[in-house]
Amino acid sequence: MRIDQAIASELRDSRGTPTIEVTLRSGDLSVRASVPSGKSTGAKEAHEKRDQDGKGVNDAIRGLRESIFPRLEGERFAFPNDIDHLLLSVDGTPDKSHLGANAMLAVSVAGTKLAAALSGLPLWKFIGTHSGATPALPRLYMNVLNGGAHAQFHSPFQEYIIVAGGSETLAHSYEAAVRAFWKLGDVVKREVGDVPLGDEGGYAPMCDTLDLPFKMIREVIDGQGDLALAIDAAASEIFLDGFYTFGKESYDRNELLALYQGLVQKFNLVSIEDPFAEDDVQGFQEITRLLGKDILIVGDDLTATNPNIVSAMTDTRAANAMIVKPNQIGTLLEVYRAAGIAKNAGWELIASHRSGETEDSFIADLAVGLGCYGVKAGAPTQKERVAKYDRLIEIEKEFLY
Ligand code: PEP
Ligand code: MG
Repeated sequence: MRIDQAIASELRDSRGTPTIEVTLRSGDLSVRASVPSGKSTGAKEAHEKRDQDGKGVNDAIRGLRESIFPRLEGERFAFPNDIDHLLLSVDGTPDKSHLGANAMLAVSVAGTKLAAALSGLPLWKFIGTHSGATPALPRLYMNVLNGGAHAQFHSPFQEYIIVAGGSETLAHSYEAAVRAFWKLGDVVKREVGDVPLGDEGGYAPMCDTLDLPFKMIREVIDGQGDLALAIDAAASEIFLDGFYTFGKESYDRNELLALYQGLVQKFNLVSIEDPFAEDDVQGFQEITRLLGKDILIVGDDLTATNPNIVSAMTDTRAANAMIVKPNQIGTLLEVYRAAGIAKNAGWELIASHRSGETEDSFIADLAVGLGCYGVKAGAPTQKERVAKYDRLIEIEKEFLY
């Protein structure tokens, strides 16, 4: 693959915050990749490079123009991995603080898109071949009620998720999930009144009881075999001095564990993401031992898509599933390594968007290419989220027919 031109520019994400888009050209072909940004960001994530004001991406773009693009333009690369190796060697830091994981990922994803386009393979198939994974269609993890850091802590847990799929086509599951989301709007209005939307486009009600969000979702999914219920507790955000605090209540590790056990039984949860804080490995181990036979215990802040951390966490059996967020680590080469380690340990993978998103649908192809169990892409009220679901439906046709 010969790269003729590389361009970096600024665009706005779903929160209006600047982010980076990279365009790569080869002959008549041109591909673009843009990167998302988290808000409930884990401490172990690679560094997101921002200007001194904490917002702009001018320094990150300048870094690409000065240190990377002169090494890409006019050059040939046998594999996109070679571009990732170049990014890693120029960056040269353990946390990507020189170039920034955001700048690196825009180049890494654009390199893979260009290589896929030149090969004539659909992107998901190229990712499968290239990463050594077996492609499969994922379930949809649609975040329908937003709480935690994404909605001024109106609800204690960050994400209340409808899981759709497993027994029907993706197109059918998507339709069922969207209809349940609309119906949920009526139920929320009846129980709480008019409520704002959170960062990922789901309703953000202020609930009087811990049970209410679960009851409202059960009301709209009960009787629909293809729909289930999950949460992302994002517990690092509610952890302070040994206690997990939401509303007026504080829980120690054992009390929180008992609370989860009760919620799983009462509301039939199928997965819990980040049930404990990122450093509370003991909490993760205990909940995996207690509930891991029946449901997914999903690491996000815990694992940070970092191959070294994933390796340590699989060794200690801290979970049985993991979130895959490319911008937590910065190159697809490392994403594939982390995913491979998790899969070899028997863990499921859930590819995920971030709370600040762009219209780039790359994670849809990544989820299918890596054979992920699920893909988290938010509620169908923002174009940035819908773009991922639309791409999945397109991929399903390529995949099945
Ligand atoms: C998450 O925690 O899974 C998430 C998507 O949130 P953020 O992007 O804000 O880290
Ligand atoms: Mg999470």
